[in-house]
Amino acid sequence: MYKLLKNILFALLPKKVIYANEAFFRKVIYSIKYKGNNHLCPVCEKKISTFVKAETGLLCPNCGSLPRTRLLKLKLNELNLTTQKVLHFSPHRELQKGLTQRLNSHYYASDYLGSLTPYHFDIQNMSIENDFFDIIICYHVLEHVPDDKKSMEELYRIMKPNGMGLFQVPFKNGPTVEDPNEKDPKIRLEKFGQEDHLRWYNLEDFCGRLKNVGFKVNPIKIKTLELKFDFFGLNEEETIIEVRK
Ligand SMILES: [Zn+2]
Repeated sequence: MYKLLKNILFALLPKKVIYANEAFFRKVIYSIKYKGNNHLCPVCEKKISTFVKAETGLLCPNCGSLPRTRLLKLKLNELNLTTQKVLHFSPHRELQKGLTQRLNSHYYASDYLGSLTPYHFDIQNMSIENDFFDIIICYHVLEHVPDDKKSMEELYRIMKPNGMGLFQVPFKNGPTVEDPNEKDPKIRLEKFGQEDHLRWYNLEDFCGRLKNVGFKVNPIKIKTLELKFDFFGLNEEETIIEVRK
């Protein structure tokens, strides 16, 4: 049904108009078809009848959030954010909106290539003083950057002592594979799982690399937690890497 409504929209309106107003159209589709009480999206805080099945996982029909973003929001809810300095790489748009409202100038949303965040830090070399952030959220970034060791050193440098990081990358069985010099998108897709990835980590190896730059590392397998997986549309197979300085 989500697809059908989307197709109708695309038949009626120019693509340009739809992409420029994507959030608005999603909300229209939500209000026509997806209002309900079966589930709650923690990101936009809307009650919905069902999540939408997509290749990438269950989507919120209202804000487009993925399971990992909804889990991240639940984690952040536990932290009772008020005046902590938070650095957030490549944030989901709706989550960025909520955290900006909540934390104002304490919240640093950064996307290296995007245009929707106020900051565009190069994670390998950031113009930020030492020991600056209380919390750093770095989801699905380190598999894209040429020098992940330098990036991890930077993350450690700018985090306050006792600060916390919530990190995530895709994991594979078997050893990490990587080649920061590989330019061919087809080979990258084949070897690293996505056309713009430069590596595909093994979980233990990823944790080891973070320990090597100084972090205390705690991988959290979320299926071991008591969560309402179905209600919030979460993915039980997910792992969050919680780090401390
Ligand atoms: Zn939502």
